Amino acid sequence: MTDSQKHYALAIHGGAGAAAGRDYSEAEVHLARLAKTGEAMLAGGAPAVDVVEKMVMEMEASGLYVAGRGSAPNSAGYVEMDAAIMDGSARNAGAVAAIGDIVHPISAARAVMDNTPYVMLAGIGATKFAADQGLAAIESPDDYYRLPAGTTLADTQTETLSHGTVGAVALDTDGKLAAATSTGGVFGKPEGRLGDTPITGIGNWADEEVAISCTGIGEYYILAGGAGKIANAVEMAGDTLGEAVWRMLDDVESLGGDGGVIAVNKAGEIVMAYNSEGMKRASVSTDSPLLMTTFNPSD
Ligand code: ASP
Repeated sequence: MTDSQKHYALAIHGGAGAAAGRDYSEAEVHLARLAKTGEAMLAGGAPAVDVVEKMVMEMEASGLYVAGRGSAPNSAGYVEMDAAIMDGSARNAGAVAAIGDIVHPISAARAVMDNTPYVMLAGIGATKFAADQGLAAIESPDDYYRLPAGTTLADTQTETLSHGTVGAVALDTDGKLAAATSTGGVFGKPEGRLGDTPITGIGNWADEEVAISCTGIGEYYILAGGAGKIANAVEMAGDTLGEAVWRMLDDVESLGGDGGVIAVNKAGEIVMAYNSEGMKRASVSTDSPLLMTTFNPSD
């Protein structure tokens, strides 16, 4: 890269619940294609916040991940979804928790951020708000939702393969950072259960230095301090981005949880780390070619 070129960086994930021996090729092809789309947007000067929303919208619509169309019902038999978005330089955020049948929960979160003085709306209020904002509702839930790639019906009734959230983090050519995360939550969850994803500062965070999206068993991320802990370790302890991510992930593990994190900083450095079996992920930046994988070679 020459000095006259402007930096951009993008990382996306399709969840850290990947299990060895399953076929994620459909999701991997999708992630690679999506990263190219995001790269073209960033290279064309699109704001990071628009790019992360677009990445998550595409993953929600695909049905390949446990978010949007790939969400599994809760133990009472209906879908509740969570999503959060944060615009780092504006230090503005929006989230929806336990939202009902809305095609793009991430766009509902964006509407909370852009169009209200609030940061989070939950339940029926969030679903009504999204409809009032003109966002598409799912008219026939029974026909809409599908099993995510690599998942069986039995999986959705247990918590053995429980996580598959989607997320995106980006640095744009103006040096602005943003993060977006969306989930159907963990399989087998009870009605009203919320994880880390809709909580700004736990499952999702962006400021002037870093942008972070988490995936894993949300309860442990909440107890470990999540994305906010990573941002604090960078800002106050002087950790590198990688050190900060592992500091939080090690804490998740010591509490008995697992999962992964994608993060990018204002220098365009990308970290994609996990302590689960695998994490579907892709990244690209002005300094690094497209990378798409689910498992590390050493896994
Ligand atoms: N973090 C999400 C939750 O606990 C699940 C996931 O990442 O797959 O709801």
